[in-house]
Amino acid sequence: MLSSSTSTLRLPNPHRRHHHHPPPPASHQFRSAAASRRQSSPLRARRARTIRAIDAAQPFDYESRAAGLLEERQRLKIAIVGFGNFGQFLAKTFARQGHTLLAHSRSDYSSLATAVGASYFQDPHDLCECHPDVVLLATSILSAEAVLRSLPLHRLRRNTLFVDVLSVKEFPKNLLLSTLPPDFDVICTHPMFGPESARDGWDGLPFVFDKVRVGDCPARRARADAFLNIFEREGCRMVEMSCAEHDAHAAETQFLTHTVGRMLAMLELRSTPINTKGYETLLRLVDNTCSDSFDLYNGLFMYNKNSTELLNRLEWAMDSVKKKLFDGLHDVLRKQLFEGFFQLFVPYQLCETKKLILE
Ligand code: NAP
Repeated sequence: MLSSSTSTLRLPNPHRRHHHHPPPPASHQFRSAAASRRQSSPLRARRARTIRAIDAAQPFDYESRAAGLLEERQRLKIAIVGFGNFGQFLAKTFARQGHTLLAHSRSDYSSLATAVGASYFQDPHDLCECHPDVVLLATSILSAEAVLRSLPLHRLRRNTLFVDVLSVKEFPKNLLLSTLPPDFDVICTHPMFGPESARDGWDGLPFVFDKVRVGDCPARRARADAFLNIFEREGCRMVEMSCAEHDAHAAETQFLTHTVGRMLAMLELRSTPINTKGYETLLRLVDNTCSDSFDLYNGLFMYNKNSTELLNRLEWAMDSVKKKLFDGLHDVLRKQLFEGFFQLFVPYQLCETKKLILE
């Protein structure tokens, strides 16, 4: 690998031959008389043996050319369909990595697209005629089916790779397999982070993927790997997992987190002068979850069959905790009523409960 350093390189052996190096540029060959005089001192002579390391790859540098070719092959033309909150967030990293970006959405995001270096297409026909290597579906879960059906698939290349980033996985897997021609490749993914939680980068964050269908030919495998490499390069923790397994876990983790965040939001929690660390965590949870659209949350519920059971368990858990508290209260109350036992200190909750019973 070539060093990117711009420091000077001192030759270890002054007698070493450098016939592989091209002649220096004309500007270096021409030296003024004063410069020649300056070079005549022993110190100058030693300096003359010092050459400058250069960053630019030289024509004879096959290693660098091979690396360049490899990088060129890793570059993809990616069409992002659904250029909302998450589509734009992903686009910034794709653009930074040097991929060619195309974008399409229901709303007009042309100026936002230009800002990240993407070409914006209001008409999906124009988008598909650009023959992207990858079509990335980043629409809401609720609109995914309608958006996919609105794409003129016949204008795409015969074996385009389709990737979705929907937060549920079995639904898009079945949708893509039933809608796309059999020659298309399909990878279902879920970057388990968003613009809020990955504000400072993607390093160490989980990226779930399922190579649902990748054609058995080197070019198609290389294209799939080049796409996944985008996330690997950013340091994501790559988790290969079936879509069904993802949905079972995601109900426990993501849907639960979003539900609790939205419940806490209903309480309109405010920061206080005596916030504990735990309370700060709750405030952050509200921020993290409520900055996502309600459509996203609704999609997590509607399109993950495990979510209903989770909601029921959450309700049961709340009731169980309440029951434990109230059972304790009733025990004390019963003692008072039937054993005449009275404490000087009567908890407020007990007074309230007793009042209710006597009324
Ligand atoms: P979202 O509300 O789930 O989706 C917004 C996107 O869906 C926008 O591009 C919007 O288009 C499009 N859309 C909504 N309704 C539509 C309709 N009826 N017809 C056509 N397009 C419609 O918010 P998001 O955060 O951007 O998420 C996008 C996708 O990424 C979702 O599937 C989500 O599950 C997934 N995801 C999100 C995150 C995250 O942290 N936000 C993380 C991982 C995965 P317009 O803006 O043009 O109206």
